[in-house]
Amino acid sequence: MVEDSYLHKGLRKKLIKSLREKGIKNERVLEAIELIPRHIFLDNAFLEHAYQDKAFPIGEGQTISQPYTVAVQSDLLEIQPGMKVLEIGTGSGYQCSVLIALGAKVYTIEYHKPLHLKAQSLLSAMGMKPVMTYGDGSEGWLEHAPYDRIIATAGAPFVPQSLIDQLSVGGILIIPVGDKNTQKMLRIQKTGPTTIRQETFGDFRFVPLVGKEGWTPKLT
Ligand code: SAM
Repeated sequence: MVEDSYLHKGLRKKLIKSLREKGIKNERVLEAIELIPRHIFLDNAFLEHAYQDKAFPIGEGQTISQPYTVAVQSDLLEIQPGMKVLEIGTGSGYQCSVLIALGAKVYTIEYHKPLHLKAQSLLSAMGMKPVMTYGDGSEGWLEHAPYDRIIATAGAPFVPQSLIDQLSVGGILIIPVGDKNTQKMLRIQKTGPTTIRQETFGDFRFVPLVGKEGWTPKLT
């Protein structure tokens, strides 16, 4: 396990200051980000990049989300302790650990098995116990539905109906939707068994959500 030194804690304080300057006001989210040692989720050689507000490669052509993006999505989710949250796109496991720090019971699914395995061993070494699997999360994870909250950390071409179906009434889905270059952050609240309310929050750039209700995976 990588150590979490005073230097790292100091760098996290600076990161929190820059997130505040960029408009993040949710104190619970800022506390969670200050608590989680982001450098643990990057390879050792990239330690100095861990507390810059940037996305960073984690293998398999994927990235750990930028801290600002993690803060925006976590804020929009309005998580209360004990809520059941589905994350699509475990990636490094960083966003998952922030959700756990906010008190969520997290279910998380990752398309790439090597990333799933790496995140699983990291989170367990941190004493965190999300329910994890690998496979196509564009169709959600029916076995554990319904969820109070769903967060997609990859950019979708449209809102997958499966995700709305797997939300409880009153539940919230946060998902970036658009083309492969830019996506709008959508917040969709399920207001009744067959009704939703949709709001839009700014432009972001995510790796593509692949799968049955996403983009066709690139053949390599
Ligand atoms: N939450 C991650 C983190 O904190 O590191 C962000 C990871 S990255 C921006 C998005 C992830 O979504 C990638 O790891 C990618 O493999 C995954 N992904 C893309 N399509 C997926 C799908 N259909 N099901 C599950 N994961 C998917």
